[in-house]
Amino acid sequence: MAEQHINTDSPEKKRNRPPPSDDPDEAGPPTKRTNVINVDEPNEGRAALPPRKPLKFNKMPSETQTLASGLVITATPKGGFPKPQLGDPIWRNVSTAQKLRWPQKKGPKAWVRVFRATYEPNAQVTVEKLRDIIPKIVGEKYAQNLVLSTPTAETELHERLPPPYHFLISGLLEDHLKILLDLEMCSCKEVTCFFVPYEMPLPTYIGTLENSNLEIAEIAKRTIRAQSDVMSFVHNHIRVPDAEAAIAAIDSIRVTSLRVTASSNLGKRTVWNVYCDSPPNFTLEHYYQWTKLIRNLPFASDDNGTGVIRRERQFICVQCKSFDHPTWACPFNRLPGWFGPPPPKEETITMMDDGSPQKTGRAPATPSRYNKVRGGTKKFRGRGRN
Ligand SMILES: [Zn+2]
Repeated sequence: MAEQHINTDSPEKKRNRPPPSDDPDEAGPPTKRTNVINVDEPNEGRAALPPRKPLKFNKMPSETQTLASGLVITATPKGGFPKPQLGDPIWRNVSTAQKLRWPQKKGPKAWVRVFRATYEPNAQVTVEKLRDIIPKIVGEKYAQNLVLSTPTAETELHERLPPPYHFLISGLLEDHLKILLDLEMCSCKEVTCFFVPYEMPLPTYIGTLENSNLEIAEIAKRTIRAQSDVMSFVHNHIRVPDAEAAIAAIDSIRVTSLRVTASSNLGKRTVWNVYCDSPPNFTLEHYYQWTKLIRNLPFASDDNGTGVIRRERQFICVQCKSFDHPTWACPFNRLPGWFGPPPPKEETITMMDDGSPQKTGRAPATPSRYNKVRGGTKKFRGRGRN
C-alpha cells in the first residue's frame, strides 16, 4: 500500500537524529519528527527516547530519510523541493513514432529524468539505475510490471545536453505512481532523478528582468495589465471560459531576485525573475506563447528607467532543466543531505547592456573578449536560435 512507504512520523534512527540544541530557550517543534521512513519497526524505540530537549530544527533538519527498503535519500526540505521550471516541453525532440505510440499506452503514466540529463542513444546504464531505485521507493512487489520506456531522438540537436531525456514510466498502479510524484525527486547514492506528471505542469516563470530596480512586481503587473493583447490572449486560449482568468494570473505575479556576475567587469548585478503563481489554465504551448508576448514588453518605471526581459530565455540550468536560473545557481546541489554532484563554479553572465548577442541579434563585436565568456554562458542561454 502507498501509505506504508511514506510515514514521516515513524521512529527515528540514531544516525538521523538532529543533535540536541545548546540553546534551551529555543522552542522546537511540538513533536519530534524525523524523516526516517520505516514500516518494519512500527513503534519500537519510542519509549527509549531520551528526555525531550528542544531542537534547533531550522538549523539542523534531518538531512536524509530512509525508506522501508533501506534506500537512503535526500529528505524533503521544509517547504518542499524547489520546483524546476521546465523551459522545454517534455515531448521536445521525442521521435514521431513514440509521440504517437506512447500516449496510447494503457494505464497511468509519468515521467522520470535524471539530474544533468541528456539524450543517450544507449541509455542502458541510466535505465538500470532507475529500474533499481523505483521498486525501492514504491515497494518491490508493486513494481513487478514496471516499464521504463527510453526516448529516441527525432533529430540530432546541437546544444548542450540535448533532449529527449524523459523516460516514460508505466506499469504501476495509480497509487504507486503517486508515491513517486509526491516525492517529486529522489537523490540517493545510486542516482538523482525527478518524477514528473504525465501532463507536464505549467511553469510559473515568465521571464527575467534586467536593468530594473524598484517595485518590480508592481511595474510588471501594471505593464502587463495595460496590454490588451496579452490579456485577451488569455481569454482566447483558456479551455474553460473565465472572465477573471487574466486578472487573477496577473495579480498573482511575484518576483524574486538573483545576483549574477556580469561578464563586462561591472561586478555583481541583480536580475529579477518574474513568476505568475496562478498561470491561466493554458496548454503548455499557449503558456509559452503567452509568456513570449510578455517578454516583448518594456517594463517602464517612473523613476528607474526601463527594465527589459530577454525575448529568448536567459538561462537554462543543465542540471534541473529550469530556465529561471543558470546552472551554477541551481538550488538542488545546495540541499542538505544531497547525494548529487557539488555546486558548479559560478560563471559570468552577459547582460543585455554589455553587448549580449541576444539583444542585438549579432555576434559580439569583440570576439576575443567574448571567447572565454562564450564557453561559459552558452549553457545558460540555451539553444539560442535553433
Ligand atoms: Zn537547476
